[in-house]
Amino acid sequence: MITEYSFAHVKLRDNARFSTICIHAGQTPDPSTGAIITPIYQTSTYVQDALGVHKGYEYARTQNPTRAALEANVAAIENGKAGFAFASGMAAEGAIMTLLQSGDHVVVTDNTYGGTYRLFERVLRKYQLDFSYVDTSQPDQIRNAIQPNTKMLFLETPTNPVLRITDIAVASQIAHERGVFVVVDNTFASPFVQRPLDFGADIVVHSTTKFLNGHSDSVGGIVVAVRDEHIEWLKFVQNAEGAILGPMDAWLVLRGTKTLPIRMERHNANAEVLAEYLASHPKVKRVHYPGLASHPQHALATRQMRGFGGLISFELGTFRRAETLLNSVRLMALAESLGGVETLISHPATMTHASVPAERRAAIGVTDDLVRVSVGIEDIDDLKEDLAQALDKVQN
Ligand SMILES: *Cc1c(COP(=O)(O)O)cnc(C)c1O
Repeated sequence: MITEYSFAHVKLRDNARFSTICIHAGQTPDPSTGAIITPIYQTSTYVQDALGVHKGYEYARTQNPTRAALEANVAAIENGKAGFAFASGMAAEGAIMTLLQSGDHVVVTDNTYGGTYRLFERVLRKYQLDFSYVDTSQPDQIRNAIQPNTKMLFLETPTNPVLRITDIAVASQIAHERGVFVVVDNTFASPFVQRPLDFGADIVVHSTTKFLNGHSDSVGGIVVAVRDEHIEWLKFVQNAEGAILGPMDAWLVLRGTKTLPIRMERHNANAEVLAEYLASHPKVKRVHYPGLASHPQHALATRQMRGFGGLISFELGTFRRAETLLNSVRLMALAESLGGVETLISHPATMTHASVPAERRAAIGVTDDLVRVSVGIEDIDDLKEDLAQALDKVQN
């Protein structure tokens, strides 16, 4: 684990608390000026003092101080050993998958992010990787899906968009008994809500585009690892394939992680209130939110998560009703993505999950009447009023 960071003004130790880590981990005042904020090192190369003598920076695909600060910051936030930042969440996932070789098999959470499914099925199958999609919220399904050539268990919890929960500790134990390593896509929860490495996972991946950056103004991804052999390979492949996060985006995400705890507290609080409101509304057929006592895995969510996250999905009975609601909101923005300070509302079947075949969508609960909300940090009464007036327009 990360042991100690040195600063001119603060020493961050093993026992530093979460908010302090978010603000300080991985960052030292700029050595040339003392600037408290790591500058955007917008440079492609670095001058060397003499042949073979340099400051640890040679070429910016390989090393960049702004990116390095972000990588150390998020590694500490996730309680990992090292972080690697990529141009997008998908680029980060792509890099992780290069830990495998042709012939290897992966067990995957069945209602995983649509882009993950597309990467695995449309790209990586070409390289003779094999995937089985199972409901990882059922430990027996994981156990039964592991084959002699299974190398990786790829989990997403809570899932997108119906927020099913996998017990990371139980899943990791099953995987490790069979020599399988565990990757968790922690984008939906954020490390404030849940830290998979603490439950035994080996690698965490994020689309930083979402809660880590938190302001809907950057696309990026990051991988945090703990095992030396993973770290060594990820460092190598980040440079070899070169899908790195640029310095401007690294700086934006660093700015985002500083306020992660207070943003997540508000995301959690607002989402809980809206979920209760929707659950009590006569025009809403069903609400998916781990914070509701009616959620099938509410007890597990309470153990594994701090708060229940900012995502809610709900069913309105028919596509027409969903359409009316989506076209009637005024404050909530009709848009893909999630995790920003502003509330976004979307229709998974035709937006985020459009690349998933219809029969698979049905199997994973992405019905045509399903609406997803990424609850922002606006005033809760304004959010409630917006949903109320939009629901008024929905036919009984
Ligand atoms: C957005 C997202 C991704 C992909 O990240 P990009 O930054 O869009 O490439 C992967 N997993 C989850 C859960 C996501 O929400």
